[in-house]
Amino acid sequence: MYMLELFHGPTCAFKDMALTVLPYLLRKGCDLCGIKENILILVATSGDTGKAALEGFKDAPGIKIMVFYPDDGVSKMQKLQMTTQEGSNVNVVAVKGNFDDCQTGVKKIFGSEQCKKALAEKGYLLSSANSINFGRLAPQICYYFSAYCDLVTSDQIRMGDKVNFTVPTGNFGNILAGYYAKRMGLPVGTLVCASNKNNVLTDFWNKGMYDVKRPFYKTMSPSMDILVSSNLERLIFELSGRDAALTKERMASLAATGRYSLRAEELKKIRSEFFAAYATESDTVDVIYEFFEEYGYPMDTHTGVAMSVAQRYEEKMKKENPKEELPPMVVVSTASPYKFPQDVLYALTGNDVKDSFKGIKRINLLTAMKVPETLKSIRYKPVLFKQTVSPDKMFDEVMKFV
Ligand SMILES: *Cc1c(COP(=O)(O)O)cnc(C)c1O
Repeated sequence: MYMLELFHGPTCAFKDMALTVLPYLLRKGCDLCGIKENILILVATSGDTGKAALEGFKDAPGIKIMVFYPDDGVSKMQKLQMTTQEGSNVNVVAVKGNFDDCQTGVKKIFGSEQCKKALAEKGYLLSSANSINFGRLAPQICYYFSAYCDLVTSDQIRMGDKVNFTVPTGNFGNILAGYYAKRMGLPVGTLVCASNKNNVLTDFWNKGMYDVKRPFYKTMSPSMDILVSSNLERLIFELSGRDAALTKERMASLAATGRYSLRAEELKKIRSEFFAAYATESDTVDVIYEFFEEYGYPMDTHTGVAMSVAQRYEEKMKKENPKEELPPMVVVSTASPYKFPQDVLYALTGNDVKDSFKGIKRINLLTAMKVPETLKSIRYKPVLFKQTVSPDKMFDEVMKFV
């Protein structure tokens, strides 16, 4: 088993991989298309996207960026990271509600001709930094290839051998990039889709029906607290044989009734390429503790979900085919343990601390793992954004900003 640590960028989470590239792709795209307008990036975030996008786009010429996050749905550290953001072209606003309320609000603005017209009059074109933007997916495909090459050059596998990946999944962007890598020829065996208690994807794999009519849970892996996984649309488009009309029908059904179903042959296909399961909160705590006890390796809560599911997948496969050798498993690690210090400290020691910075200090004493500078320094930065709005007032804020 191998860990693919994708959290060594400016915000200590995997979204940095794509969001530090996206502004350059966007700039180049505008130049190639002869677009002269300013760009307004709107982001709905469950925590990590927002900060990573702010860092990627801050002070980018001709671009403004505005981030909406759920008032009560992000960790203290995530909130501080965003509300202390510097840069001349940034704005950060809390929304009363959960992530889906934020995402729905932003999607409404994107879908409204009236909003687009009002912005155009001010000289702005809309774009997104959420994982529905293909400019996010494209850079993510690369690290699946890169990880595979690392395994080859370090003599862990031979070129052509299969490798499995387990991905902690929310909006289905990361794992979809893995699927695209496979379609591009990378020898990937199974893609393991790991969810937390918001297990809408696990049910989808088991029953062949996507059903969002269910309770929404706030968990210790907040970046995966999602009911409507936007990028799943792209997977079912591929599974349907790229049937755009059928995909559109399903999305309309999702919007109208909260559900849609797969055909039998699609379900068979999706199950042959992916395995899906979820970890409860206590599974996550247990695996973080056990892994540190056994290997001295601390994981964040999202990576803990992935590890728990990866272990379950391997146990299941060994039980079903005891003689068959499993391909190596790469567990995709999406955040630094220091990004979720209270929950990680609780998992490691059973201790609750009220203050994130105290948590960071204790984890550091316990693990001797270096604390990223960017997390240390926000403690001393002034909070610049304090506003909270209701979902129906989001566009008013946008107009004030431009
Ligand atoms: C965003 C995020 C995820 C989920 O990734 P998706 O592409 O939305 O599936 C998992 N872990 C962390 C730490 C994240 O920030």
